[in-house]
Amino acid sequence: MKQLMESWRNYMDQGSEVKTLVFLDMDGVLVDFSEGLVNALNRDISGDIEYRNSRAKKLKKVKEYKGSDRVFPITKNFMAELMIKKDAKEEMTNWELLIKRYQFLPVVQNYDHWFNLPKAQGADSLIEGVASVVGFENIYILSAPVDQESIRAKYDWIKENTSIPSERVIIRKDKGSVPPQFPDNRCVLIDDRAKYISMFESTGGIGIRHFPESSSVAVDSSLMQLKELV
Ligand SMILES: [Mg+2]
Repeated sequence: MKQLMESWRNYMDQGSEVKTLVFLDMDGVLVDFSEGLVNALNRDISGDIEYRNSRAKKLKKVKEYKGSDRVFPITKNFMAELMIKKDAKEEMTNWELLIKRYQFLPVVQNYDHWFNLPKAQGADSLIEGVASVVGFENIYILSAPVDQESIRAKYDWIKENTSIPSERVIIRKDKGSVPPQFPDNRCVLIDDRAKYISMFESTGGIGIRHFPESSSVAVDSSLMQLKELV
């Protein structure tokens, strides 16, 4: 990363104009994905809703688990740690494994869930701040989808909650494929997940880890890091 930044600085010093494009992740950056997920999980685990098929089976296992590692209600912190363990392929407790296997079932093929997710803390300030550094026209959205319904809802969410036009919305799992698509620009990704930062940096982009996810603290720190780059 340091080396990359130095070579860019040299390039800039030579007077070449390199436009910086900033790609904003949605879940954990603009969208408080965890809040919505935790609510849906707790509702399912404590509720009496009858589901069919594999969802019912997995939910039954979660509901009936009595191990001492059981933590309920599920909190945002718990989910954040789970995600870090998952990405780092670390060992999980039985309860964590059960939740990991169940976690996305409440949101699968569920347009309303995705569309109604709340804005993350400081989301508007982040967009404004990034716009003041690189220009609003250079802000893109780069978000990984879960399924077709989530893709549809993500476009609509951006339309409803921001003024970023849909031409600059990229919904794609392979975030590493983006920097090569803009070879003449400097591409910066603001993302809460280390996994996507590495993917993006491995193909020539620069990553800014938005941490802790969905927080104002992260907004301040991400903006500060962006200012240092540009
Ligand atoms: Mg994210």
